[in-house]
Amino acid sequence: MAQHFLLSSQAKTLNLLKIAKYTEKQAESYFRKLRWANTNGKPVCPRCGSLKHYDLKGRSVWKCKECHKQFSVTSGTLFAGHKLPLRTYLFAIALFSNEAKGMSALKLSRDLKVQYKTAFVLLHKIREALLETRDEETLMNGTCEIDGAYVNGYVRPENKKEDRIDRRLYENQNPKKRCIIVVRQRYGKGTEYVGSKRTLTFILKNENSKDIMKIANNIIEKGSEVHADESDAYNPLHAKYNMKRVNHSVEYYSEEGACSNQAESYFARFRRFQEGQIHKMDNLYLLNYANEMAYREDTRRMSNGEIFNDISEKCMKTLQSNEWTGYWQGNHRVSERLESAA
Ligand SMILES: [Zn+2]
Repeated sequence: MAQHFLLSSQAKTLNLLKIAKYTEKQAESYFRKLRWANTNGKPVCPRCGSLKHYDLKGRSVWKCKECHKQFSVTSGTLFAGHKLPLRTYLFAIALFSNEAKGMSALKLSRDLKVQYKTAFVLLHKIREALLETRDEETLMNGTCEIDGAYVNGYVRPENKKEDRIDRRLYENQNPKKRCIIVVRQRYGKGTEYVGSKRTLTFILKNENSKDIMKIANNIIEKGSEVHADESDAYNPLHAKYNMKRVNHSVEYYSEEGACSNQAESYFARFRRFQEGQIHKMDNLYLLNYANEMAYREDTRRMSNGEIFNDISEKCMKTLQSNEWTGYWQGNHRVSERLESAA
């Protein structure tokens, strides 16, 4: 039997020991090559694009000869105004890359010996980079699966039986309950791989046909084969797609081959992430958490060295965000990222 990819030596190209030993200069030069790939790491002014600059002695800061602004490798990016050394960021990304089911802020704070708050924000900056750089433009086609799962809906039953309420009723449900919708495009038949190739997630207040139609319209090409379960919310999709439905209370594969196993496998990873690592997921950032697991699913056949490079590059390409710069000083995201039809 062929060896599992993750057990092969090709899957293990990241050397944590080596990255832990990086000097600040080496870390900076690594980030420079990712940020300024076109000039092979030569600084480009983020304000005016000029290549001419003065080197400021003893510091990794340049002063633009054209617009006279000072800048560093992280200016204007997610890591702008960083207080930790760059080598710490690089090591954090390396640790993050190796976690198949995600990573808790408590663990990262121990690994880096930084405050919990610092680790929390750092992890969220990486998640922000993964979300900001996700491809929402390229339509999915071929065979896709779409499915939803509820999160944050738990209502603790009262201790005494006579005090308990009917938790199935709408008015007794947890107002924080949200639905994660996942859409996955499968690899085409005859390709080297099986399973899913690309994954996108969205957050809804509930699994309803209007919002689901909007999501499908935005990202699935007309005429694609779409697999979904028996929920009524997916009925309108028959008008535009070649639908395959499976009734999970009866079977996992329908006779005509319908199944949503790829969507289920996404949710399996997501649940392990939530229950095993994060525990409490604020709805404000639910899309970022959901997207992190989509990223991990989609990169499951990449070596950890490639994942590390990819995440580092995404961090360098993501612009500074008000939500994560000065988070503990009160800069917060104010509303949830919900995908709702108007
Ligand atoms: Zn400039």
